[in-house]
Amino acid sequence: MDIHEYQAKEILQGFGVKIPPGGLAYSPEQATYRAHEIGGSKWVVKAQVHTGGRGKAGGVKVCDDEHGVFDAANEMFGKKLVTQQSGPNGKVVYRVYVEGGIEIERELYLGFVLDRSSERIMVVASRFGGMEIEEIAEGEPGSIVRSVVDPAVGLTEFHAREIAFNLGFSASQIQQAVATIQGCYRAFRDLDATMVEINPLVVTQDGLIMALDAKMGFDDNAMFRRPEISELRDKSQEDPRETRAADRGLSYVGLEGNIGCIVNGAGLAMATMDMIQLAGGEPANFLDIGGGASPERVAKAFRLVRSDEKVEAILVNIFAGINRCDWVAEGVVLALQANPVDVPIIVRLAGTHVEEGRQILVDSGLPVIMASTLSDAAEKAVASCRKSTPVTFQMEAAS
Ligand code: ADP
Ligand code: MG
Repeated sequence: MDIHEYQAKEILQGFGVKIPPGGLAYSPEQATYRAHEIGGSKWVVKAQVHTGGRGKAGGVKVCDDEHGVFDAANEMFGKKLVTQQSGPNGKVVYRVYVEGGIEIERELYLGFVLDRSSERIMVVASRFGGMEIEEIAEGEPGSIVRSVVDPAVGLTEFHAREIAFNLGFSASQIQQAVATIQGCYRAFRDLDATMVEINPLVVTQDGLIMALDAKMGFDDNAMFRRPEISELRDKSQEDPRETRAADRGLSYVGLEGNIGCIVNGAGLAMATMDMIQLAGGEPANFLDIGGGASPERVAKAFRLVRSDEKVEAILVNIFAGINRCDWVAEGVVLALQANPVDVPIIVRLAGTHVEEGRQILVDSGLPVIMASTLSDAAEKAVASCRKSTPVTFQMEAAS
């Protein structure tokens, strides 16, 4: 789960990281009022969207007076911000954050990620910030400091000081840098984060170390025990298809293709998507309905996949190990009788009681296309999408 910059900043501030004064606004008038509250003579208006690269896309505007703040906010509200990281659909701006303008001396990069190979939190930092870590890695690879934290001792002051020296902080700045680095680490560890990124971390002209940007991501599987974090969720920033799925306990990732997939098991779902591509098609989604695959879950899955208007065919691929194909088939029949689906449905069943399962589908009289193998199913799904409309259903006897 991702959160907004202003939320991440507030959290990190609670762990001792310095941030500029700022306030959230839902309208240009409120943005102006925020600027007035903050005071000073320079402000930065920042679109709050779950994506980076806002600066280059017009989502971060420096303003010299309150009219400028009003205009910048007015320009941003309701706009779809498409950045290098947002994907082609972009993210709509519903909130802006107004912040005091900071006189920057230098910009650095400070990130914390979960390193899966060492199974530890890793600090990734660079004395060059403001640009994306990929660009730093390309342009200034030697500047990147990587340091793995031992969970038994945590990120000690000694360790943080070593990182701070590597980032070129002066002796008078080391203590602030250590507090920032340790603060981020504690926030990461204590809140089940998967990512903390401050880019840029800046040294101001007054010698202060501050986070000018902040990004945090959290482990979805831990959110049940972090109510204070899960309430920061902003559904307006998520793919609505994925939000619907998450709310129903289904594991779904929306994709760009037109073949909807309903599969039990993540590995089988991945293999199904590969086979569709091999057959010349494009999957519309990844969907793992889980081991149980009860009629209710199958029905939910059909509704979800069908709610994506791009879907022109649905491939149901079930391997029944502990489950039974005849139960799954009953689920498919119940789901389709209750909610008829107007696109071709291709079903491939394998495993326990497969013959009974197929027979149930054939006897149901529903326009289901049976497939014997996964590649057969993928080819039939691709072929049924290519057929010109209106689509004619075909029935095949169980093989
Ligand atoms: P993004 O990473 O989405 O482009 P940032 O928050 O990093 O957005 O802002 C982009 C750039 O704008 C920063 O690298 C920094 O140079 C500048 N900037 C951001 N916030 C401020 C601020 N409060 N004062 C001065 N400059 C800022
Ligand atoms: Mg940034």
